[in-house]
Amino acid sequence: MIKIMPDDNFVIGVDIGGTKTAVALINKKNDVVCELIEPTPKIGPSELCAHRQMGLQDGEHVAKLAISLIEKIFNVAQIAVKDIGGIGVGVAGTVNFKSGTVIFSPNLPFRNFCLKSTISEYFKVPVFLDNDANVAAWGEKCSGAGRGASQIVCVTIGTGIGGGLIINNEIYRGSIGCAAEIGHMVIDKNGPRCACGNYGCFEAMAAGPAIARKARKAIAERPNALILKMAGGEMDKINGESLALAAMEGDELAVGILREIGENVGVAFANLVNIFNPELIIVGGGVAETGDLILEFAEDVVKNRAIKPNSEIVKIVKAQLGNRAGFMGAAALIREEIEGHHD
Ligand SMILES: [Zn+2]
Repeated sequence: MIKIMPDDNFVIGVDIGGTKTAVALINKKNDVVCELIEPTPKIGPSELCAHRQMGLQDGEHVAKLAISLIEKIFNVAQIAVKDIGGIGVGVAGTVNFKSGTVIFSPNLPFRNFCLKSTISEYFKVPVFLDNDANVAAWGEKCSGAGRGASQIVCVTIGTGIGGGLIINNEIYRGSIGCAAEIGHMVIDKNGPRCACGNYGCFEAMAAGPAIARKARKAIAERPNALILKMAGGEMDKINGESLALAAMEGDELAVGILREIGENVGVAFANLVNIFNPELIIVGGGVAETGDLILEFAEDVVKNRAIKPNSEIVKIVKAQLGNRAGFMGAAALIREEIEGHHD
């Protein structure tokens, strides 16, 4: 743990995801002094029913976990709530950042839950709430791959595809805070069904499940494929990593699938490059971390399909903060608010 100084002006950053919740104590130099991560509690329909009968709101148990992790951080760092200026929170879901409400979350039981006031009333400090993709984009902009750039598109490719837009050094949130749903940009109107109900979304064409589906289909015709061996012989364990491993051995089937996925990513990126003319596309998430092939194929498509000079200006880079991007960005946002840089 980094040494604690009396004038550290701490803030807390919180990142509530569908599977994990992370909390960090951050000093004025933007160093992570300490961090804690715990699984976000899953709740079944019967438990949710019992909660409602007790008069608890849906999602209150998630807010409670965040609160208890913040208290644990105070204990670990030997500080008190008076030592922190505020708490920034990013949450996986649709957020009205003005009212501090989580309107809806596909993986968490929030329905119009006022997360900001729940946390600020408990600790009696200012709280800033935004969605996880926006805070992660802001984290990369302030402390990661986006430092020094003012026009950035952030794309996280994992189980789903999330997006964050930085336009003129500000997070672009749209009219009601729901902008940058990059994963649901349609790139093939006849494509497979997406979790959102639409067809051919970028997410349905390039995220982890799409990669696994393509690989399983190819292997069904070639049972001795190297991809399957790389997944320990288990169909269910095939993912971007087993494909990347097989591709590194020169397996043509794996390279072909990664090319197809990379080209889908490239089509989406070419659209983004044409619309936003960004300096940077920052790519994070598990899929981006599995080797360079997908991004190399994507880059070729951007070069060939996006208009010039947009395609010549943009750089496609990997995210640098990994899982820390969310709480780093949330902490930066609350710091800007309390220090008066944010409107
Ligand atoms: Zn969709």
